Amino acid sequence: MQLHWHRRDLRAADNRALAAAADAANNARPDEERTASTERESTVSTDEAGAAGSPAGDSASGPVVPVFIFDNAVLDHAGSPRVRYMLDALANLREWYRERGSDLLVARGDPASVLPDLAEEYDADRVVWNKDYSGLARERDARVRQALNEQDVARASFHDAIFHKPGSITTNNGDPYSVFTYFWKKWRDRPKPDPFAAPDEDHLADVEGGALPSIEELGFEPPTADVQAAGTAAARDRLTDFCADGIFRYEEDRDYPTRNAVSRLSTDLKFGTIGIREVYEATAAAHEQAEDETARESVEEYQSQLSWREFYTHVLFFNPEVVSENFREYEHGIEWRDDPAELAAWKAGETGYPIVDAGMRQLKQEAYMHNRLRMIVASFLTKDLQIDWREGYDHFREYLADHDTANDNGGWQWAASTGTDAQPYFRIFNPMTQGERYDPDAEYIKTYVPELRGVDADLIHEWHELSPTQRANIETDYPEPIVDHSERREAALSMFEAARGDD
Ligand code: FAD
Repeated sequence: MQLHWHRRDLRAADNRALAAAADAANNARPDEERTASTERESTVSTDEAGAAGSPAGDSASGPVVPVFIFDNAVLDHAGSPRVRYMLDALANLREWYRERGSDLLVARGDPASVLPDLAEEYDADRVVWNKDYSGLARERDARVRQALNEQDVARASFHDAIFHKPGSITTNNGDPYSVFTYFWKKWRDRPKPDPFAAPDEDHLADVEGGALPSIEELGFEPPTADVQAAGTAAARDRLTDFCADGIFRYEEDRDYPTRNAVSRLSTDLKFGTIGIREVYEATAAAHEQAEDETARESVEEYQSQLSWREFYTHVLFFNPEVVSENFREYEHGIEWRDDPAELAAWKAGETGYPIVDAGMRQLKQEAYMHNRLRMIVASFLTKDLQIDWREGYDHFREYLADHDTANDNGGWQWAASTGTDAQPYFRIFNPMTQGERYDPDAEYIKTYVPELRGVDADLIHEWHELSPTQRANIETDYPEPIVDHSERREAALSMFEAARGDD
């Protein structure tokens, strides 16, 4: 037997480690029963050796037992919307296995003790998994490897969540890139493997899995947010819809939150309910079908967003400390403000800046926020309020279903001007002009801020420039602006200049 340990890969199709395990199971059977496994081999890109493990990593075999482990160390950092999505995705995955005469084993505890125990119980001679790149995950995986070694169980781990492994896209000196454009050009030009096939029924072990816990049993309240449907089928639907329309308008429309021109695949990619090769393959097909140059460039723009995800994964891999530290330290350190009342207003979507409040309320309602809004609210927190990006990161981590350590950290440090290839500190978003440009009719704002539904878009975009009497004359409970943007802009510039040591 072999164990496949599902982690951030809650799917059966286009799953590299699972495909490799099925392949090994296939090769273990008599010749006449084998299927064409060599085809799959040829899809492995040359810069990624694939299996990395113990000497027996490739020779072990037998049917595959799929396993998922609820790890308290991971749950300690989770938020309820993410746990909701994960439980739903697991229920979908379990169904997939059950329909094929197998099941998903569900356990709870430290993987470094659960996996050796399961290997013994199921007489498994190999455990396979797909790699994860955060510092915490790598530390856990090192402990798991050690525990399996001690029990003489082989193991193999695979690069699956991203196309190009950390260290494979570097400057000519071999250093990781800190400027995205150079990274993207190399990423774009590398060959991309095709999706891996899902395992055949007869490669899967006939086992009985345990029950999935409820969200309460895992220690979480059910989320108040309406978390999007989880699982591979839902992710595929989103991908198909996007590739039929939005992808061809992406470059022009992606910054406008009401134009429905983004894929909404971030949570699926975070939990791996869809494989990156499958997503890329659909975008490549869209590229072929694009009717003109603008549409083709739009598809390429979307592909570049997929490579931002890999860029930040590499940044996190080489700099695990960015989870809590600035990537870029200013000589004198940044003196962030400590202002619990302003932080609370930001979290509640009660700042009196309509576009900011709409974004923060979308987060609470949908466990998601459009990218343009993430940039606006993050700029507002770190520049207008001059509050430490880590406060914002923690809030997003709790409420976003798609929270991903690498991307969330990359996004926050970009907005705070402390990250790789970050927004320069002197470029400070004006929340009013951002609202006017990207939500001219205030349609997005009115969706999430009901107090402003009866108010003219022009007045909404001028809200902080109106006099208190003018605002009082408009019948609404919407709050007064908590700060003056122009004053805070100057204060933010001073804060960064002091941090740089400028006179
Ligand atoms: P699309 O525009 O359809 O993009 C497709 C995919 O590309 C996304 O699903 C995502 O996987 C990737 N992607 C797109 N933009 C980025 C980006 N700037 N950086 C990295 N990957 C990107 N993304 C997350 O996946 N998880 C997070 O926790 C997260 N936190 C963020 C925090 C801040 C402050 C900012 C500014 C951005 C953050 N992002 C995060 C990036 C981006 O906002 C989301 O990926 C995107 O809004 C998700 O919606 P979508 O799937 O419709 O995106």
